[in-house]
Amino acid sequence: MPVTQPILITGGRLVDGTGAAPVDDTAVLVHGDSIVAVGPTAEVTASAPADAVAIDATGRTIMPGLIDAHLHVTFDDVQSNDELFFHRQPALAALVTAFNLPKLLRAGVTSFFDPDTVHGIGPQVRDAIEAGVIDGPRMATGVQALLTSVGGTAGRLIPDEGEVGYAAVVNTIDEMVTTTRRQIKHGADWIKIHATGSIPRHDGELQVWTYDELRAVCDTAHELGVPVTAHCRNASSTRDAARAGVDLILHASFIDEEALEAVVASGAAICPTFTFLANLADYGDKVGAGEGMTDIFRGEIKATAEMMRRAYDAGVRLLCGSESGFALTPYGHWHARELEVFVEELGLSPLEAITCATRNNAMAMRMGDELGVVAVGKRADVLVVDGDPTVDVRILQDRDRLAAVVSRGRLVDLDAPWPERRRIPGEKVGNWAAEILTAERAGVMSPRT
Ligand SMILES: [Zn+2]
Repeated sequence: MPVTQPILITGGRLVDGTGAAPVDDTAVLVHGDSIVAVGPTAEVTASAPADAVAIDATGRTIMPGLIDAHLHVTFDDVQSNDELFFHRQPALAALVTAFNLPKLLRAGVTSFFDPDTVHGIGPQVRDAIEAGVIDGPRMATGVQALLTSVGGTAGRLIPDEGEVGYAAVVNTIDEMVTTTRRQIKHGADWIKIHATGSIPRHDGELQVWTYDELRAVCDTAHELGVPVTAHCRNASSTRDAARAGVDLILHASFIDEEALEAVVASGAAICPTFTFLANLADYGDKVGAGEGMTDIFRGEIKATAEMMRRAYDAGVRLLCGSESGFALTPYGHWHARELEVFVEELGLSPLEAITCATRNNAMAMRMGDELGVVAVGKRADVLVVDGDPTVDVRILQDRDRLAAVVSRGRLVDLDAPWPERRRIPGEKVGNWAAEILTAERAGVMSPRT
């Protein structure tokens, strides 16, 4: 890799990611992918190399780069399951992913965890980023989500066996073990299980894995040194996932007392990922989704948030994830919204929410000791933010407030035009019509009176 110039950030209010009280008039010096000095501006400046690039952070906040602990970088802001499973080809998905990745950096996201990727391309995308072939944040990745033939969140679109899109269908414990091992061979940082799924004519999501099945995957992955994450959108799946040894529970929706106890006992982390629901509730009608559903999604957030607060108080590590990659959560726009939800719905302080999105989230990167904190010896992912997010955490959602983004010791170009592209032929599901052309609608038959 080419030599990078040192970067000296001076005079800022340091929010270091540990939850410690902010410290004014702080300077941070980074060189290569390391933070080499943190301290009073005068002191750090005196020892800084003369060729360091200077960034004045007076009146601004210096903080760790944001980590998004749950997004889907290969989905390309997808609008439907049909599109997701049947309109994403492997090579094109990789190219489009490379196009979208810089949007994350531009939003201050210097690391992210993607649990499942279309056609299992995640490890290849990660390796390309790490080698400098494409530009993007640090990435921790799964391969494909393990689904039973119930079909996860796409029900009957998922075949009874085999692979489609981001899904690998596994039906027996033998297949679960074999697929887990194969994914690890192909570079999985994590194994992802879809522990709940929806089935037509059934309300909500049902648990579609048994405890023994969950346990088999956890044991196999752990023996090979790889952690396991599980999508759990009901209480029983959250309970069984925790008991089986799942390391990171996604959603934990409608978690009850028994499940909370199991999570506390197991030490699993939870990434509730409210942002998708919050966007549906607040803005769904602006994009023709979830019309009239505001109360339902708000209700789900409220029901789960109350228990998440209790989990937090009981010492459960909560992570911030945005579920970016869907039409309701496009890349570069909503990565920091989860912090706002943590403040408003869980009653966390902005500082506590920032700690979740930085130090806590480093766990999802499997870099808990190296990332998410601004301190000497940590990796060089640092933001300079106009204003004070410990007063109003929402300012982290405003890209115009980002004065500097340092990723792996390099400054991200924040002045370049926002990436725009044209539609790729065949990438969207084509509808013949948005409405059904009945004779009445056409006006050729008069409605019966
Ligand atoms: Zn997800």
